[in-house]
Amino acid sequence: MENRSAIAIDGPVASGKTTVGRNLAHRLNYRFLDTGGMYRAVTVVALDERMDLSDQHAISKLTEEMPIEIVASSVGDRLMVNNVDVTDRLRERAVDQNVSHVAAIQGVRTALVRRQKNIGERGSIVMVGRDIGTVVLPDARIKVYLDASVEVRANRRFLEEQNSIGKLTYQDILDDLIKRDKIDSKRAVAPLIPADDAVILDTKDLTIEQVVDLILTELRSR
Ligand code: C5P
Repeated sequence: MENRSAIAIDGPVASGKTTVGRNLAHRLNYRFLDTGGMYRAVTVVALDERMDLSDQHAISKLTEEMPIEIVASSVGDRLMVNNVDVTDRLRERAVDQNVSHVAAIQGVRTALVRRQKNIGERGSIVMVGRDIGTVVLPDARIKVYLDASVEVRANRRFLEEQNSIGKLTYQDILDDLIKRDKIDSKRAVAPLIPADDAVILDTKDLTIEQVVDLILTELRSR
């Protein structure tokens, strides 16, 4: 049965899905879940514990047993693991470089998708990721796939990171993105592909507000 108040947004790295999703949720007064944060949280813990990331069994077990909690706060949602706030660590470079390997493990996906489906069941939610329209919320009211060329996306990330410490070059960012795109779209389990019935939007020449407005118009027309 269609989940009338669930919205699925998928797309590659830096396609704008998180900012669009958060804005859209705000406009509709819906909850928001960025599923990438969950894969990132598993990666933070696995790296901290110096686990072998190719040990699929151990990483799957870690994920199944990991208490991940999303707590609303005045500075936005915080992601807690074992009551420790890991939000500020989710974007560390080591996490960027390893998360796609962790996310390609079947047992990791099974454990996280189960939780995401539970969160989605109550409806009134905008969920963003790579497999939301295809696997997590196949009955969503609307599925959106945001896209843009890898150069456009790398440039966005480069501009965002201008003020951060240990700044990366445009080429570092482009190389990371190409690697991550490749792993995400070629993996055997739940690869990044638009759902058959997704609305595909190229965000190259669109502002965040324009993308949000387009999605709202599409929603109202249904
Ligand atoms: O969206 P974000 O860049 O934070 O996601 C980090 C990584 O987590 C992605 O590159 C992808 O490997 C994985 N991911 C996934 N499925 C999702 C969300 C994220 O495989 N639903």
